[in-house]
Amino acid sequence: MIDYRAFRSGDGDYVAAVVNRYTLQFLEDKSVISFAGGLPDPSTFPIEELKNITVEVLENYGFEALQYMPTKGVSMYMRELLNYLYRNRGIKVSQDNVLITTGSQQAVDIIARAFVDEGDIVVVEEPTYIAALNAFRARKPRFIGVPIDDYGMKVNELEDKLKMLKSKGEKVKVLYTVSTAQNPAGVTLSIDRRKYLLELAEEYDFLLIEDDAYGLMIFDESTPTTPIYNLDKNGRVIYIGSLSKILAPGLRLGHVIAPKEVIDSLEPMKQIADLHTSSFNQYIAALALKKKIIEKNINKTKTLYKQKRNTMIETIENNFPRTTWYTKPIGGMFIWVKLNQEIDTELLLTKAYSKGVLYVPGKGFYHNENGKDTMRLNFTYPTINQIKQGIEILAKVIKEELNT
Ligand SMILES: *Cc1c(COP(=O)(O)O)cnc(C)c1O
Repeated sequence: MIDYRAFRSGDGDYVAAVVNRYTLQFLEDKSVISFAGGLPDPSTFPIEELKNITVEVLENYGFEALQYMPTKGVSMYMRELLNYLYRNRGIKVSQDNVLITTGSQQAVDIIARAFVDEGDIVVVEEPTYIAALNAFRARKPRFIGVPIDDYGMKVNELEDKLKMLKSKGEKVKVLYTVSTAQNPAGVTLSIDRRKYLLELAEEYDFLLIEDDAYGLMIFDESTPTTPIYNLDKNGRVIYIGSLSKILAPGLRLGHVIAPKEVIDSLEPMKQIADLHTSSFNQYIAALALKKKIIEKNINKTKTLYKQKRNTMIETIENNFPRTTWYTKPIGGMFIWVKLNQEIDTELLLTKAYSKGVLYVPGKGFYHNENGKDTMRLNFTYPTINQIKQGIEILAKVIKEELNT
């Protein structure tokens, strides 16, 4: 056998090390109740509609859909996507401002490649989305974390940190935020903080990356979730979106909305990675958007997720120790739990697993691996009964741990 270690690049070794550190081996065990995944409920996938659309694509657009296409994206899809974003998110831009990506994960990756050099300062929420964190990690930046509360990133603490950095002659390059129904914490940045954050981006001259993966998956509509992108007048914000949580993650369709100059600097990075995103999938999604499949389905999905969220909140409220802080998301897929106890949730996971329940320990969502007593709970994938049962079991495991 060849010893491939002798051939691997330094970057390859480094990236393998940072990503693998957080891989949990038993997360996909089907015999347990899992709050660990980040998956939509598969019963919400419009399988029949997509089947018919796929046939239609092959019949009417076969030559284009199976052909190479421009890196930027298929123009029919971009047109339908922009209409959709305008109707549902108030985002009004032209095709100059769009880049279609292979999942929004690729968007984060190419933004990091285009804008972050080794040693640059990247600001993230504490906690933040692990897959984005890893995409930035691969660039070897210096991270600065800003804690969250029920209203998202504590922007006043960010300001303190920015002032301190400035006094040392240092400067933030980019800030990454999941502004609405955050992963992992489920919190939504308040409208005042959105404005404040944008002012800070102006004053301290950094780019703001807004990941809006859940902006269209909101069940309590009373909280405003205006994208920061829409408040921005000076091109500070790079907006990232995805069809993963509103249509199907398997299509791998994401997008960047940004000023033309930003799109122009991302496009070569994308071309190097994969030439272009699947044209076939873009045609399928274009017809799905045109036929308003998402808009027709999404209210049913929201009703289902809202029920599941309510069940999880109620069961946590009635069973978890009184010291627990947990979030009450207005949308998205996750509830965040901080036990405020001397419990290491990574160690506790083995016990929970032996009782038939899984979650994700919170540590991996911190750039500095803090958050020992935190966990992320997914409420979209398990059934309502599993949620009740599983949260009760988890509460028992925690209480037993406290009494030993
Ligand atoms: C699920 C999720 C995404 C979606 O990623 P895709 O690559 O588009 O599937 C993006 N950002 C966050 C914060 C997410 O939770």
